Amino acid sequence: MIKKTRIKDSYIVRTKKRILRDTVDSEAKYTTTFKDIRNYFKIFNKSLFKNALNSFNNVKIKRIVRGSGQCVEYISYRKGTNFFVLEMMPKYKNKMEFLNTLAHEMVHLWQQTIKKDTGNHNKLFFSFRNKFKRLNLKLSY
Ligand SMILES: [Zn+2]
Repeated sequence: MIKKTRIKDSYIVRTKKRILRDTVDSEAKYTTTFKDIRNYFKIFNKSLFKNALNSFNNVKIKRIVRGSGQCVEYISYRKGTNFFVLEMMPKYKNKMEFLNTLAHEMVHLWQQTIKKDTGNHNKLFFSFRNKFKRLNLKLSY
């Protein structure tokens, strides 16, 4: 039990260091890549969601009018199926904004797939605030 906790904590510390290293050039504009999305999805899944998340069914890099990212649910009433698409912008102000946005959209995925929640910015959503803080991330609207 104790050992398990230690491993977990060390992973959080390692992840935090990695994020710091990755965002040290805070002024540099960031260009989104599928590779970064894939890598950080894995890292956040482990450090924030205990690996509970299934991947998004699809990932798109596109211009977004409202907000800086989106977790879009597509429902087929005919087939009775639903799937989730992550939409990220082609560019961000800096890498930190990219990471905050990706982690934010992953909380929405967690709400809707694991908790069967509305996926609104509600209490459940903001219950991740401290976990984000531990990684130097910021959870906001
Ligand atoms: Zn949101």
